[in-house]
Amino acid sequence: MTNKYMYFIANWKMFGDLRTLNSLDSIIKFSNNNKKNKFKIVYCPPNTLIRPLSKRLKKTKLNVGAQNCHENENYGAFTGNVNARMLKNVGAKYIILGHSENRQSGETDKLINLKIKSAAKAGLKIIFCIGETLREKRNKKTNQVLARQIKNGLKSIKNKSKIIVAYEPVWSIGTGIIPKSNDLFKSVSFIKSRFGKKSPIILYGGSVNNNNISQLKDIDIIDGFLIGGASQNSKKFIDIIKKTFN
Ligand code: PEP
Repeated sequence: MTNKYMYFIANWKMFGDLRTLNSLDSIIKFSNNNKKNKFKIVYCPPNTLIRPLSKRLKKTKLNVGAQNCHENENYGAFTGNVNARMLKNVGAKYIILGHSENRQSGETDKLINLKIKSAAKAGLKIIFCIGETLREKRNKKTNQVLARQIKNGLKSIKNKSKIIVAYEPVWSIGTGIIPKSNDLFKSVSFIKSRFGKKSPIILYGGSVNNNNISQLKDIDIIDGFLIGGASQNSKKFIDIIKKTFN
């Protein structure tokens, strides 16, 4: 850990309804009982749950984030979309942008850059996802891809204080496979080197679970984890946090 806190970001993806929120009582209790612990928990549920979740977490140390937004700052004819300001208004403090599942359905670096700018303007903290595909890894293009995604995704953003970077190798998301510790260390170091002296908070994401966390936590240049599948189960999520500090 190189920062003040370890971050645990729960990406619920397309999961959960109002009743699912009851499962968070154990996390709230865990967080209340561990006030001195140096972690930050952020839940990113689907948009339908942002308001009810932010109400529920009001007197807790847990935070709420969104999973994506439209790039337009203002209202407009964009059926089915919401912008960053609308998400902020219903209680989001963070937002995941550049997730590979959205890149795979057509989001370009340029579009992600516009989204990051609009989210920063709305006052959201941005969890900016980057990572190479399996083919890029096999072709030894990892650093090249990471450098391109950082350069284009953060183009003309001078103040990067609201940016948290999540390194998520695409081949690791939802597959149960995690990078070798040495490779992960090298990729995170490379990301850090792209930012010069002011390194952002850097998280790792991809199949983090309560078994492999013991290995991942030893890579001390990582400032936390972006957790998909395992975050949908409060017991597993709490276990991951506990094991990180063991
Ligand atoms: C993610 O959705 O960002 C993610 C890392 O998913 P999983 O933990 O399920 O691999």
